[in-house]
Amino acid sequence: MRPFSYTRAPDAATAVTAGTVPGAAFLGGGTTLVDLMKLNVMAPTSLVDVSRLFTAAGGAATDAIQDTPQGLRIAAAARNSDVAAHPLVRQRYPVLSEALLSGASPQIRNMATVGGNLLQRTRCAYFRDAAEPACNKRAPNSGCAAMGGWSRMHAIIGASDRCIAAHPSDMNVALAVLDAGVYTRSPKGERSIPLADFHTEPGQHPEVESVLEPGELIVGVTLPVTPFAARSAYVKVRDRAAFAFALASAAAALALEGGQIRHARVAIGGASTKPWRCRDVENALAGHAPSRALFQQAAALAVKGARTTPDNAFKVALVQRTIVRALERALEAA
Ligand code: SF4
Repeated sequence: MRPFSYTRAPDAATAVTAGTVPGAAFLGGGTTLVDLMKLNVMAPTSLVDVSRLFTAAGGAATDAIQDTPQGLRIAAAARNSDVAAHPLVRQRYPVLSEALLSGASPQIRNMATVGGNLLQRTRCAYFRDAAEPACNKRAPNSGCAAMGGWSRMHAIIGASDRCIAAHPSDMNVALAVLDAGVYTRSPKGERSIPLADFHTEPGQHPEVESVLEPGELIVGVTLPVTPFAARSAYVKVRDRAAFAFALASAAAALALEGGQIRHARVAIGGASTKPWRCRDVENALAGHAPSRALFQQAAALAVKGARTTPDNAFKVALVQRTIVRALERALEAA
């Protein structure tokens, strides 16, 4: 690990100012950042500790999760375990609770924050190995060792000719189907970013992973009131039952009316380069009576245009089955 300075920001304004200094990084629970610093994959010159800011949503009250007429506001520094166990999250947004509980270990969930989870970085083994010279994400224009290398965990959706790394977060897949918003603060002021627009595809610049600007601080997440959030579920398929990243995952949410699907939300993870909303699947479901045949037909649309390697071609079938299972579980919910 390389030397760095450490500051605990006393307030948001100080944090934002300190965060604009070149080489600065915000520190939440540290479960990704410190891990990657130890591996010399990330080397910030200064850490700005924001883990005690915004433990109240909006930065003012005492509760990290606030119930408002528009929905829940979750503070950036809220711990994953606290969010997963919160009664209002479990009751109104079960997909989020399930996704959080499927991630990592209890110890890590007790440390990891919502803000940090939004910025969780890929588990691509070549990205995490500082001695590997070819990784466009870690060292722009250096190549991609995963193409032609070990790529079983990698993405089949959203990949580019520069990077095929899968996005690792479970939480973000759930947020994608909940129409969540990420609200931020920067020297330019405050803004709210739809979760669907927050993460970027690798394209020609895999080193860029979100639309955040330098020094822009995540303040929290909003979960709007919707007719579909309560009937929702998360399914994660992985190599072992706990403490493993997804080979494929799916979040689904449904609203029914008169025996037909009025609203559908579907997103996938583990097999895509960002939390991936499957809008074609959603459109194919809306207006029809739910059935396994309909779910299978719709799920096939999620993998149209999939780009595979010999290692990860199995994900084409796996993604479809995972979506079908998530839709069936959502249908059983509420
Ligand atoms: Fe790097 Fe992306 Fe290639 Fe992995 S897949 S080696 S993160 S460029």
